[in-house]
Amino acid sequence: MAQKNGGTPPRALIIGGSMAGLFTALLLRKRGWRVDVYERSSDELASRGAGIATHPEMMVALDKAGVGRDGLGVQLDGRRTFDKTGAVLDENAMPQVTTSWDMLYIRLMSGLPSDAYHTGVRFTRAEQDGGTVTAVFEDGTRETGDLLIGADGVRSTVRNQMLPDVSPRYAGYVAWRGMVLATAASDGTRDALLGRISFSLPLGEQFLCYPVAGEGGTLAADQLRLNWVWYRQASSDPEFEALFTDSDGNRHDVSMPPNRVHPNVVAAMREDAPKNLPPHYCELITLTDQPFLQAIYDLESPDIAFGRIAILGDAAFVARPHTGFGVTKASGDAVALAEALDAAGGDIDAALKAWRDIRVPFGHTMVERGRTLGKLLDTVREGVINDPFGTERTTVAAVMSETAISADMIE
Ligand SMILES: Cc1cc2nc3c(=O)[nH]c(=O)nc-3n(C[C@H](O)[C@H](O)[C@H](O)COP(=O)(O)OP(=O)(O)OC[C@H]3O[C@@H](n4cnc5c(N)ncnc54)[C@H](O)[C@@H]3O)c2cc1C
Repeated sequence: MAQKNGGTPPRALIIGGSMAGLFTALLLRKRGWRVDVYERSSDELASRGAGIATHPEMMVALDKAGVGRDGLGVQLDGRRTFDKTGAVLDENAMPQVTTSWDMLYIRLMSGLPSDAYHTGVRFTRAEQDGGTVTAVFEDGTRETGDLLIGADGVRSTVRNQMLPDVSPRYAGYVAWRGMVLATAASDGTRDALLGRISFSLPLGEQFLCYPVAGEGGTLAADQLRLNWVWYRQASSDPEFEALFTDSDGNRHDVSMPPNRVHPNVVAAMREDAPKNLPPHYCELITLTDQPFLQAIYDLESPDIAFGRIAILGDAAFVARPHTGFGVTKASGDAVALAEALDAAGGDIDAALKAWRDIRVPFGHTMVERGRTLGKLLDTVREGVINDPFGTERTTVAAVMSETAISADMIE
């Protein structure tokens, strides 16, 4: 168990109570650290609904964090691509488990005592003094510890203080997202979409869909949901501005919560669906009460450790979601940090140096991978393409075999 001189456990201040923050909190607590997580949102984060592809690396992290991998999601058999009429263009066998953001959040929170998780607390800045670091919050309160972890996402305040010149770069397209109870869909749509990841590749766009657990994490067959994502191009401005200005005229830049997207913007997207997508995807869009929007960004940080401050998860690197790897990467950052602390025998400064040497190159690799996958949106459907992976494959085959795969499958 970790101890400082004098026998007290070291203390971590974790900014951000989402995936990266929770994995880090659990792994440090297992090593005897005193941990406090500070989350600015006072809403129940479990209501953030979205599907998440999993990989073996994430399963290992869940085991190491002490919350286990059993019953984490829906076992899928393979992948399939439909043309615009709904006919199958191609399919393959690629087993994978999909989960949902709420299921993972509930699982991770189950391992953390409630008094270690503080909501409605906005971090504003950090102050370092030798071997200690102090977090200063918007309400003026201050907390001091041995390590401050910035797990505060793509618009990280911690990163902004440490790396003011680094900011996310908009990739030129957005993701529309939604979830529908599978039993609400027609028999034909359910048959087509359950049990696999399904794609469609309208020119310059990409649609994908997969089943995930029901609300609250249930795997009951009649509660499964169909999670869909539709990548569509949107020039920086004025298109982006129109999409990301909410019903009250407020401008957003990363995501638009389900109830904030302007009704006219949703109506235009629904109108476009039949022009671009096969009938069963159009059905899902019609059945989705409140589709929501996320902008696609690349983010790379030249460093992730600054004295007693570290950044991880999306605060450090954001790889485009075609990698299906954001949560797995966050969990891997946390595992690598915990293991570096073990290897350094409690020497926090030495551990941070060793950790950064492993995770900075990995972060760059994943961001580059996301960019390459993004190029598939620009290639011609069905033909042999100028394959960004350097093989003579159709776009369909490349998308199906390269999207959301585990890091050790990447060549
Ligand atoms: C369309 C799309 C599909 C995706 N699909 C997948 C997938 O299939 N598989 C996968 O693994 N990943 C996927 N991802 C990526 C994944 O969602 C992210 O990588 C992951 O949520 C990152 O977790 P995080 O904890 O680092 O950051 P976040 O989830 O962004 O959390 C940051 C937290 O910090 C809090 N915070 C921010 N600022 C402050 C502050 N000043 N003070 C206190 N708290 C603060 C925020 O409220 C938030 O809760 C997808 C992303 C998108 C956009």
